[in-house]
Amino acid sequence: MLKITTPYFSFIQESGAPPGPARAGRFHTSHGEVATPVFMPVGTQGTVKGVTPAQLAEIGPQVILGNTYHLGLRPGDALVAQHGGLHRFMGWNGPILTDSGGFQVFSLASLRKMTEEGVTFQSHLDGSPQFLSPERSLEIQRNLGSDICMALDECPPGRIERAKLEASMARTTRWLARSRAVPLQPHQGLFAINQGGTHLDLRRRHLEEAMEQDAKTPFQGFAVGGLSVGEPKPEMNAVLVEFVKELPADRPRYLMGVGTPEDLLFGIEQGVDLFDCVLPSREARHGRILTSRGKLNLKNARHREADQPLDPDCGCYTCRTFSRAYLHHLFRCGELLGFTLNTIHNLSYTVGLTRAARQALLENRFPAFAQSVRARWQTEEP
Ligand SMILES: [Zn+2]
Repeated sequence: MLKITTPYFSFIQESGAPPGPARAGRFHTSHGEVATPVFMPVGTQGTVKGVTPAQLAEIGPQVILGNTYHLGLRPGDALVAQHGGLHRFMGWNGPILTDSGGFQVFSLASLRKMTEEGVTFQSHLDGSPQFLSPERSLEIQRNLGSDICMALDECPPGRIERAKLEASMARTTRWLARSRAVPLQPHQGLFAINQGGTHLDLRRRHLEEAMEQDAKTPFQGFAVGGLSVGEPKPEMNAVLVEFVKELPADRPRYLMGVGTPEDLLFGIEQGVDLFDCVLPSREARHGRILTSRGKLNLKNARHREADQPLDPDCGCYTCRTFSRAYLHHLFRCGELLGFTLNTIHNLSYTVGLTRAARQALLENRFPAFAQSVRARWQTEEP
């Protein structure tokens, strides 16, 4: 058992030597322990869409995400702070991770203008002029009171020429130093984000630069950003194979924005501890159901009279209680309850997949587990 202590978030690796870098571990936050690998549902606007915190607790995700860009614009971080912080405001007592807002500024907002100081942009809500800098991003996250904060990075598009990418990464490195200098609440940890697209040498250099800063004041974790942004899947996977294992072993490793069942399994195999993605809940709202036998489309007429649950191997509230016929009916009618029940299932399946992977790692049977999960997706009819 590897045990290294850092000021916060000391990551304890619990599984020793599976073939390859896959690992189970845990770290502490002031809102509870996080056992990894784990999938974190996304609660963009201070809610995981369609489910109550009590339903979330039963799904058991451990950590959820809050969104700095969205919450900073509406209702505003000062208002959330007035109400005792995001945990209290949204009625969720477990750990919360907030992103830096960078990804949304670079994907949602219009009329962006980048300077060394930060980025000015128009709010996607009302067109009002806004400004985000490393300091402002962390001020918002400090007001939200999340357990894990992310340093602001520039998020270049997936297809960008190398010279431009290098310039962008250099700025992200300078922003990282400014982020580290911002005082946070005592319970909050700061993760650094690695960029570099699919260029392994650039990712390594970017990590070296972060580690120089880390030697002065340690980061509490490391994230891999800038993947799953339109690059071909084999290129993303090649980066993960070579790069994830080079991230510090004594800190949580977070692969941002990745969350299809296939990608989770692959990421875990490379030694990733934390994942987030809107996919399971977004798919649920469109009637696309993730199951142990592959994806199922609830819209399909073959479910109209089907008495079985969405996934006979799932123990979630939806699968324990309702038939496909009922869920098909709710979906056809556009009933809100259908969105909720589908979301409960899709999140339960996704969180459950990472939990089962963790158990397999602890019991030294992870390769066989991964093989059997993939075999069922490929051979069995959902
Ligand atoms: Zn289920």
